Amino acid sequence: MTLPPLREVIAAHGLKATKALGQNFLLDEQLLDRIAAIPGSLADTAVLEVGPGPGGLTRALLRAGARVMAIEMDRRCLPALAELEQAFPGKLRVVEGDALTIDHDELMGEPYAVVANLPYNVGTVLLTRWLGGQEWPPRWRSLTLMFQQEVAERIVAKPASDAYGRLAVLAQWRSTAKLAMKVHRSAFTPPPKVMSAIVHIEPTAMPEGVSARVLERLTQAAFGQRRKMLRQSLKGTPGAAEAMDEVGIDPTRRAETVTIEEFVALARVLSGTT
Ligand code: SAM
Repeated sequence: MTLPPLREVIAAHGLKATKALGQNFLLDEQLLDRIAAIPGSLADTAVLEVGPGPGGLTRALLRAGARVMAIEMDRRCLPALAELEQAFPGKLRVVEGDALTIDHDELMGEPYAVVANLPYNVGTVLLTRWLGGQEWPPRWRSLTLMFQQEVAERIVAKPASDAYGRLAVLAQWRSTAKLAMKVHRSAFTPPPKVMSAIVHIEPTAMPEGVSARVLERLTQAAFGQRRKMLRQSLKGTPGAAEAMDEVGIDPTRRAETVTIEEFVALARVLSGTT
């Protein structure tokens, strides 16, 4: 099946990128095929794509054999996406709407992979939501998401680095998070100001006896004052001093030196007491 070049699709449907919707389109089909390969084989796999725009990544996912559900807010893109629906009969469904207000599990109705090149602000909100769910393992099987490179580095960061913080703990305490590909700003139309990178996340087993909410509150307090000693930053966290003693964490250490396993161990003790 030969599809028209994406530049022609954009011109034919008058899809001038809008800043308010965070639109930076990817038009290089080889690059898009490489992105669609990041999650592994998508043959007959349900994929949720958020923000398909003119459909470049959507095409690549369909070429990889995926069954795609796409949520797009900009109705100007719908006619271009309807052409793709025709080219891949029964393989693409497009929902017009705001991905922030849609229940993805309900929409998908089966386990699914998420692939998206989203506006950065929307991407971070959705990532926090996907990673923070009560149900674990979650319905999604993997997340393959484009971020500003600086945010991607915070997601995959290791302790004792400047990038290490709440986002790293959230992304790694019950998932693996990898920086899968750096994408140069010139790959986008129009090019954004900063470099981008794609992060790939897969859920792992959830450590036993740990409440996600307790861990979240703990890292919020610890990294809220990341340069301070833990005994200072965790002063307002009931039971934290005893928990550090029990786990064997020196309270003069700073949050950025505490490993994810140590945060989990602390949260486990606190989950039993709060
Ligand atoms: N996936 C396309 C690509 O790679 O060329 C478009 C990427 S563009 C960075 C982001 C897309 O997300 C735009 O099409 C925009 O209209 C859409 N979008 C922005 N906010 C959204 C939201 N809250 N829900 C659904 N789509 C949204």
